[in-house]
Amino acid sequence: MVYVGLGSNLDAPHAQVAEGINELAGLPDTEVEACSSLYESEPMGPQDQPDYVNAVVRLRTGLAPEALLDGLQAIEHRHGRQRTRHWGARTLDLDILLYGEQQIAGPRLQIPHPGIAVRNFVLYPLAELDSQLEIPGRGSVTELLSACPKGRLVRLDAAAQPVV
Ligand code: AMP
Repeated sequence: MVYVGLGSNLDAPHAQVAEGINELAGLPDTEVEACSSLYESEPMGPQDQPDYVNAVVRLRTGLAPEALLDGLQAIEHRHGRQRTRHWGARTLDLDILLYGEQQIAGPRLQIPHPGIAVRNFVLYPLAELDSQLEIPGRGSVTELLSACPKGRLVRLDAAAQPVV
């Protein structure tokens, strides 16, 4: 099972995330199996930026991790993503959270994603998709969630959910 996290806080974030999900479904040999609710979260790092809209999807894909990252970066690029400051505002951010049981510690790709264990906007949607999920080397989503403050994270109501 491959899990990808999406986040946006610029240029109509709900639409950015919904379109991002559709574009993930359009990657070669890839299917979006399940999609979490949308969430609103406070920014990490600099606080002088809008709140984020986040979601997590579960993919079935024949793409290898690096090829999947290429695909995600192409989608980010199409959404006009510009890398300005670290943890700064962005139109669309796509992260490979998990790639099956794989653990990768390369210069370009770290899997599980290094932030996975401590980010409420990742753990809550992941738990919604699979509360039994084990994060290789980190423990279960449920355990990690119990140690992760919810902060200002809000699950958006059904009217705001993406239609895939
Ligand atoms: P960000 O600014 O959060 O989009 O980080 C982008 C950088 O993180 C890219 O240069 C990727 O090579 C790197 N990266 C490392 N691990 C991952 C991952 N699991 N998913 C997405 N990007 C990753």
